[in-house]
Amino acid sequence: MIQFTNVTKRYASGQEALSNVSFDIATGDMAFLTGHSGAGKSTLLKLIACIERPTSGQVVVNGRNLAHIKRAQVPALRRQIGMIFQDHKLIAERTVFDNVALPLIIAGLHNAVETARRVRAALDKVGLLGKEKQLPVMLSSGEQQRVGIARAVVNKPALLLADEPTGNLDPDLAAEVMGLFEQFNQVGVTVLIVSHNLGLISRFQHRILNLEKGCLLSHAPLIHEAPPCA
Ligand code: ADP
Repeated sequence: MIQFTNVTKRYASGQEALSNVSFDIATGDMAFLTGHSGAGKSTLLKLIACIERPTSGQVVVNGRNLAHIKRAQVPALRRQIGMIFQDHKLIAERTVFDNVALPLIIAGLHNAVETARRVRAALDKVGLLGKEKQLPVMLSSGEQQRVGIARAVVNKPALLLADEPTGNLDPDLAAEVMGLFEQFNQVGVTVLIVSHNLGLISRFQHRILNLEKGCLLSHAPLIHEAPPCA
């Protein structure tokens, strides 16, 4: 699903955010990405979603080499990817229903009955059926994050990318949200989660990719991959 081969990303400022990073994540796998602030975690996610392009090396997502993807093809790539953020990025003045429906509208689904069916199915999966008419501010932080997850899965993406999805949650809610990601993974969705919370992620039996100053240091369990940079 995700394959990085000798990927380096240097920003226009000269900052090298990723240095010769190689790894792959198979379809249906779940993995965590950890590392200190500034290690390059968000940059790695942005390369997968084609928000940034690598300076050198190759990124392949769901069989597509992103070096060859044209700007007009990027929205189709993004529809295969659900993204979840620490601050969930919900639209405050829109209802839960409208927030979750947004990716469907952007994708061009204009059938109200089908939209409602899919939104309710996504809200059901995160345990929030019945909250669809509420505004995000009326929900707890854990519920807001679950709305963000419903929005990310409403299009049935093959891949979920989450950037510190539990960063603002207390330990019980964080474990609950991680459990939701596991449920999506168990039905075949590939999941990559950025997290600082080593205590939490080590409780799961998933691979941990560790970035330090733009270099991929280690992960477990081992799979085929190029050696990390020195
Ligand atoms: P992390 O998500 O691990 O905190 P980032 O990927 O955000 O790390 O950043 C990695 C490095 O790249 C940092 O030194 C950061 O300052 C730099 N960086 C990130 N985005 C940009 C950008 N748009 N322009 C210049 N430098 C950037």
